[in-house]
Amino acid sequence: MTAAQGAAHGADHGADHGGDAEPNAIDAPGTAEEEWRSWRLLNELPVLDTSGWSSVVVVAAHPDDEVLGVGGLLAMLAATRVRLRLVAITDGEASHPGMDQVAAGKLAEQRAAETTTALGRLGAPAEIVRLRIPDTGVSRREPEVREALRELVSGFQVCLAPWDGDLHADHEAAGRAARRACAAAGTRLLSYPIWTWHWAHPRDSRVPWEAAVRVPLSSGAARRKRAAIDCFASQLRPRGPQRPPVLPPDVIAHFVRDQEVLIS
Ligand SMILES: [Zn+2]
Repeated sequence: MTAAQGAAHGADHGADHGGDAEPNAIDAPGTAEEEWRSWRLLNELPVLDTSGWSSVVVVAAHPDDEVLGVGGLLAMLAATRVRLRLVAITDGEASHPGMDQVAAGKLAEQRAAETTTALGRLGAPAEIVRLRIPDTGVSRREPEVREALRELVSGFQVCLAPWDGDLHADHEAAGRAARRACAAAGTRLLSYPIWTWHWAHPRDSRVPWEAAVRVPLSSGAARRKRAAIDCFASQLRPRGPQRPPVLPPDVIAHFVRDQEVLIS
C-alpha cells in the first residue's frame, strides 16, 4: 500500500499522497476496525456475483495492494480456475524513506518477491506484468499507465483496481487510469478501497456506499489471505528504531475480515 507521512505510518510519500480536500486524511488517526465490523450496512451490502467470471486482471499501485484489497477473492477465483493477470504499476521502492538508489532497488526486488510468494499462498499463481513506474509517481505517468492498462485489460472480463477516491495519490492515479482503460477496452471495472478503511467512517458521505458490493470469503480463502499478508515482511516490520511499520496491526485489522468490499 505504501503509507504516507505521519506518526502512525512513518514518512513515505510525504506530500504526495494526494486528496486536496483532506491532505492529512491518511496521517490522522484511523477508524478502529471494531467500528466497521459493528456497522450493520456493511454486512448487508449486496453480494457480488462472480459465478460467470473466467478472466480477471488485478491492478496494484504497490506490491501488497492486490492482497490487502482482493486477496480473498483472488484465492476463490483461482480455486475455480479463473485466468488471472496481475499488473504491478510500481515496485514500491519508496516505502522506506531515506534510502539511496541501491538500497531502494533492493527493496523493490524484495517487495516484488513478497508479492510472488503471497500469490503462491493464495493459491493464485497469476501472470505478473510489472510496469516499473516510480513509486509515488503514478500520477505523473498516468497517460502511459492508462495506455499500458488498455492493452493489458483487453480481452479480460473484469478488472479489479484501487479505488480512485482512496485519498492516496498513487492509488487514485492507478484507479483513474484503470477506469479509463476499462471503458476503452469494454472490460468491467470494480474498485477496491485500501486507505479508505483508515480515513473514512461508517456512513461517510465521501464513499459511494450505494455502489458498494461485498464478497463473503470462504474460511479457506480468509485463511489463505491472512497467510499471504504475512509475506509482506518489509511492510510488517519496524523500519528502524523510531520508525513503525508501514502496516501496523491496527491497519492490518481492516484486511483480515471475513469479507471484502468493492465499489462498482
Ligand atoms: Zn498501495
